[in-house]
Amino acid sequence: MSKLNDNIAKLDGYLGRFRKTGILNRIAGQDVAGADGVFQNTSPVDKSVICDVAHGAAADIDAAANAAHDAFAAWRDMPALERKKILIKIAEGIEARAEEIALCECWDTGQTYKFMSKAALRGAENFRYFADQVVQARDGQQLQSPTLMNVTTRKPIGPVGVITPWNTPFMLSTWKIAPALAAGCTVVHKPAEASPLTARLLVEIAEEAGLPPGVLNTVNGFGEGAGKALCEHPKIKAIAFVGESRTGSLITKQGADTLKRNHLELGGKNPVIVFDDADLDRALDAVIFMIYSINGERCTSSSRLLIQDTIREEFEAKLIERVNNIKVGHPLDPATEIGPLVTEEHFNKVTSYFDIAKEDGATVAAGGVTIGDEGYFVRPTLFTNANNKMRIAQEEIFGPVLTSIPFSTEEEALSIANDIDYGLTGYVWTNDLTRALRFTDALEAGMIWVNSENVRHLPTPFGGVKASGIGRDGGDWSFEFYMEQKHIGFATGQHKITKLGAL
Ligand code: NAD
Repeated sequence: MSKLNDNIAKLDGYLGRFRKTGILNRIAGQDVAGADGVFQNTSPVDKSVICDVAHGAAADIDAAANAAHDAFAAWRDMPALERKKILIKIAEGIEARAEEIALCECWDTGQTYKFMSKAALRGAENFRYFADQVVQARDGQQLQSPTLMNVTTRKPIGPVGVITPWNTPFMLSTWKIAPALAAGCTVVHKPAEASPLTARLLVEIAEEAGLPPGVLNTVNGFGEGAGKALCEHPKIKAIAFVGESRTGSLITKQGADTLKRNHLELGGKNPVIVFDDADLDRALDAVIFMIYSINGERCTSSSRLLIQDTIREEFEAKLIERVNNIKVGHPLDPATEIGPLVTEEHFNKVTSYFDIAKEDGATVAAGGVTIGDEGYFVRPTLFTNANNKMRIAQEEIFGPVLTSIPFSTEEEALSIANDIDYGLTGYVWTNDLTRALRFTDALEAGMIWVNSENVRHLPTPFGGVKASGIGRDGGDWSFEFYMEQKHIGFATGQHKITKLGAL
């Protein structure tokens, strides 16, 4: 049997239970039907129905927020080493079911097995990393003053909401939920409506690992229903959100009345700048990887190529050849490099840019076409002869679509790179050290890599500037979000207290 057929057969086995029972909400360790009935989850591979999903509404969020509230004190006060053990067991549970997670994720989202098999294991790594931080999460400082010994300590903020998108949903959920649990918070998770399968697997794995009921609750549903109610709930103290920039604004508005703390990881239109002194072979590999891996549905993708005019023609020619060679196909085939786009709505959005590019006067140098009509497949696409004013250069397309823009000087490259609403990542290719220092200092982005693709190191800060977000994840930055700083001052002697009303 080919590996593709083998994967399809295994997936069939994994999906059987979902077909039978659908996906229910998980609240306080119990399966609960959605207050608004069910909605259908379909696969982008062949548009077939996968299963029914609980359609959660405000009543479900209320039940989940109450469960998270009730479970909070015991979880907060559990000895750190016990919490750590549970988080490590969750990591082990993810590793044991990594294949099931990867196959379900591919079928649900259209992401390829090539990348999702690694993303499932990255989810386990997230739990292991934050398990290791549990013991010191509450540590603080001792700041001596002439009259006081001042100490700081951190306390978990309380029950939190986690709202996630459909691109690599399992990995992204663990990236938020693992530090929240490590900090001692309880969680209500609202996964994206387009990709509910692996959120269900995560809560099951967590409970099997010994996570007490109510510490992690999962409510399915749509943004305007369950998502909005989560942001508005008074017992939820903070919202960790990953999604589009315009949804980030809504999250902020919806949380205003309850003074919610929000962490927003939003969209990007990230530049990769290639200077003519760079290692051009490595730059080419990285340019291709950072826009065409993960179906281009990746917030950190380098969707704008800024290429120095002295090397543009040769670089673009090689790029076109490689892009035309990328293998689009069934996401469960391990050889496939690009699978179908996640939903019909997203497919329509991405493909609309094929015409927009032409109307704006750019050239469709590769791709620009759809493949068949069985699923939401597109050819990887490259637009050339573009300028930074065009919509294809300014708007987040969020698919395997790259816009190439020429520049002549370093000043021009910087001005084009920064002339955008977003500021998530930037990638700079040059062998001129002083230029790299100058350029990265002035580039408006939360994360920059020089002579490298995005290689994530978990202790480093992750997040964007401008319309790409507010706040940082990673290392101790995650705990800064999920915990409150507390200061306590102890008098060390009989310092003078100003007397009022004394005779
Ligand atoms: P989206 O904003 O449409 O949805 C994300 C989540 O928010 C979903 O669960 C959705 O149901 C929910 N939601 C929608 N409206 C809501 C509301 N009013 N209140 C509460 N919740 C609401 O985003 P998407 O299309 O699912 O994901 C793609 C976007 O995510 C892209 O813009 C991408 O760049 C971004 N993203 C950012 C990062 C990052 O780290 N910066 C990572 C991955 C994806």
